[in-house]
Amino acid sequence: MRRPRRLDRLPEQYFMRLLARVQEAAAREGEPLVDLGRGNPDTPPPPHVIEALVASAREPVTRVHGYAPFAGLADLRVAIADRYASEYGVELDPEREVAVVPGTKTSLTELVLCLAEHGDTVLLPDPYYPDYPSGIALAGAELGLLTLDPDRGYAPRFDLAPRENVAAAFLNYPSNPTAAVAGDDTFVEAIAFAHETGATIIHDFAYGDLVFDGRKPQSFLAEPGAREVGVELFSMSKSYGMAGWRLGFVLGNAELVARQTMLQDHVRAGIFTAVQKAGIAALTGPQDSVAELVRLYERRRKRVLSVVGKLAAPCEGTFYVWIRLPDGLTPARLLEEHRLVVAPGEGFGPTGAGWARLSLATPDDLIDIGLERLAAALSAG
Ligand code: PMP
Repeated sequence: MRRPRRLDRLPEQYFMRLLARVQEAAAREGEPLVDLGRGNPDTPPPPHVIEALVASAREPVTRVHGYAPFAGLADLRVAIADRYASEYGVELDPEREVAVVPGTKTSLTELVLCLAEHGDTVLLPDPYYPDYPSGIALAGAELGLLTLDPDRGYAPRFDLAPRENVAAAFLNYPSNPTAAVAGDDTFVEAIAFAHETGATIIHDFAYGDLVFDGRKPQSFLAEPGAREVGVELFSMSKSYGMAGWRLGFVLGNAELVARQTMLQDHVRAGIFTAVQKAGIAALTGPQDSVAELVRLYERRRKRVLSVVGKLAAPCEGTFYVWIRLPDGLTPARLLEEHRLVVAPGEGFGPTGAGWARLSLATPDDLIDIGLERLAAALSAG
């Protein structure tokens, strides 16, 4: 069988590799593993969202079970535009500035295919979410780094970034893995960088609503001029516990939204109507479940910080805690000797080496056992 080079350019998928290691370790004798490595929400969607899914699935065949409109239900596009207006103060045209996608992960790849040519550079924040390099590899583009400065709240060092042939730059606030929120100047600087270099900004807002200590979510699109140079990805996975349902949005720049929709017309055939109806229920219904989630993660964060203390970067949002491991304590040792899974930092880019990501999207009892093991590992040195 012929094998195109583009497949060989793909890096080993980070979470698949982590899962394989975890399964190997789980098969060996010992205490059951505690997994603080994966960011998979452990809370269900609110009941009215599940009701909307079920009610829709009971509707007549052609209205629900046939192919859905490829561009998504018009009411769903209006619902996300209304939510952007009420929650983030951003007015969007639901026809031209909203693309409905089956979760945002697909767009991390597809937007790069829509922007970058062979040989172009695409910038990733360092540290970055490990799924970002995949689209760059498929596009045959070069991966460039946009260093995040831990001394400035993990703001990007645009002054140090490559400037030649930069097709796109990813940003992600609240940030996976650092848990930092965007600084006051970050989006302004990003827009200036885009004008200077011609790069398109892709702001990954997957954890947008998960911000702590009374902060308000900060959409990139609320910054004047943002939609002229970029898009934002909004996911239903974290805000509403719908990760397995696969629903998200690409919002903002009309040209790039049109490209994303056009690519989808070729490679997909819409999203199950009942899932879209449930999405409308989530976006237009009561939002107290989102605030409740924030309080849950804040409580868990407090427990984790009581053990990891100063090893942690400031945890301002998301459901992660990013910690610097003491010398000699590696994720492999935590797994082998303490039966504790953490996400090894090196998969998040060059500055991730020596760091690890802990997930708060884990039931409380498991967090407690995990923390006991972590405390034992830390005190053993
Ligand atoms: N961006 C980031 C930073 C993520 O952590 C994730 C999922 N863990 C995604 C995007 C993709 O989310 P989804 O495909 O569920 O919308």
